Amino acid sequence: MTRPVQFNEKVKVVDIPEGYSGEGFYATSFDKAIGLARKNSIWPLPFATSCCGIEFMATMAATYDIARFGSERMGFTPRQCDLLMVMGTISKKMAPVLRQVYIQMAEPRWVMAVGACASSGGIFDTYSVLQGIDQVIPVDVYVPGCPPRPEGIIDGFMRIQDLVHNESLRRRHSDKYKELMNSYGIQ
Ligand code: SF4
Repeated sequence: MTRPVQFNEKVKVVDIPEGYSGEGFYATSFDKAIGLARKNSIWPLPFATSCCGIEFMATMAATYDIARFGSERMGFTPRQCDLLMVMGTISKKMAPVLRQVYIQMAEPRWVMAVGACASSGGIFDTYSVLQGIDQVIPVDVYVPGCPPRPEGIIDGFMRIQDLVHNESLRRRHSDKYKELMNSYGIQ
């Protein structure tokens, strides 16, 4: 049985400001054009160690379908990915591995801590569990929950998209960013 095609007719298209368009041209800034392309083609690297990873699998699957955001291409090679999604409990033994994966990712790269364990160690306040991945790598977005539902993961993902869209192309060369990396001992 074929599905009927439905169009969203409620979408409002805003007029282009005066002086910014004409026959054959549309003016914008380079930052915005690159940001738009990057935000809609994020390639995630899922670093899933426990139960939150299962929620991520649901987020990838047909019902929630992260492909709608241009991110259906999961990568397990750090050099081809730009979003590290950490889902699950990270033990202190695992921390150097996570850090190594982050270091192997090319700039620009972003990090999302999915769930209580990745964000803060969660309920595992023990000698062996890292109390938040921000102890070893910088984090851009934290998603709360134990586990967060796919809606929560998608919300976090959209916040990453906002960051990607609005980030200046010069941010990675700024003193502030270098200072952040130095504070983690990353060159
Ligand atoms: S936050 Fe909860 S659901 Fe997620 S990995 Fe930790 S214990 Fe599991």
